[in-house]
Amino acid sequence: MRNLKTTRLVVIRTQELGESDKLITGYSKESGKIQLLAKGAKRSLKRFVNKLELFSCLTVQYNDKYRLPIINWAELLDSFLPLRQRYSSYTAAILICEHLYYWTAANDGDEELFSYLLWFLKELAHQPARSSQFLVLFLSKFYDRLGYRPDLTACAICGKLDNTAAPFAFRIGQGTIICRRCYIKRGAISLALPTIKLLGLAFELPVEKLSRLKLNTQTCREALNLFRCYGRYLLDRDIQAWQALNTAGYPILM
Ligand SMILES: [Zn+2]
Repeated sequence: MRNLKTTRLVVIRTQELGESDKLITGYSKESGKIQLLAKGAKRSLKRFVNKLELFSCLTVQYNDKYRLPIINWAELLDSFLPLRQRYSSYTAAILICEHLYYWTAANDGDEELFSYLLWFLKELAHQPARSSQFLVLFLSKFYDRLGYRPDLTACAICGKLDNTAAPFAFRIGQGTIICRRCYIKRGAISLALPTIKLLGLAFELPVEKLSRLKLNTQTCREALNLFRCYGRYLLDRDIQAWQALNTAGYPILM
């Protein structure tokens, strides 16, 4: 039985396989990104009913003797059902799942990142009206944790950070900001001072205190634009779900 392993995970992607099987991609606390096969998932109602859905948090036992490990049993810890019932919440949760899918690897668990994910899903399920804010706060913690925290402490040229020099422009390639006095270019990723200050707080605050931060629409728009462009540059691809967020009415610059 030494091939049997147990882990806690969030389902970040699902795929039907053939007549009756389901392929689950999860982000797990212990192992990072993990792909598991649920044999007979579409037939065996008792074993897996309503458990292997997107965004569900589960404890699973699986057998890793096979190239594609097979799930033995799954216990549902939280289904985060409201996220599948409201389009705007669904698109936001998909965006975050896609971030985990593309940015994380197998056998590379990160307890901290896992706790950010659970925090995000929980807050989004309970306070859907604040979904843009939770996206910004999650992405701040996410990029910071991956080692890509943008340096927003001051203008990278003159070292100033005050309102007379605002708005600031974010330089994707360097991950730094330049003030209006030092840099004049159309089409830059513009950041007002309150956005910069707020992201600075989000990087520092522990995850359980993040919800205290209140972000207005302009801050959300600027921050989401920053993370979208920065992520696209770092990953060298655009994450599809940003488009869906646009149609769901999020403050996104397309
Ligand atoms: Zn400057």
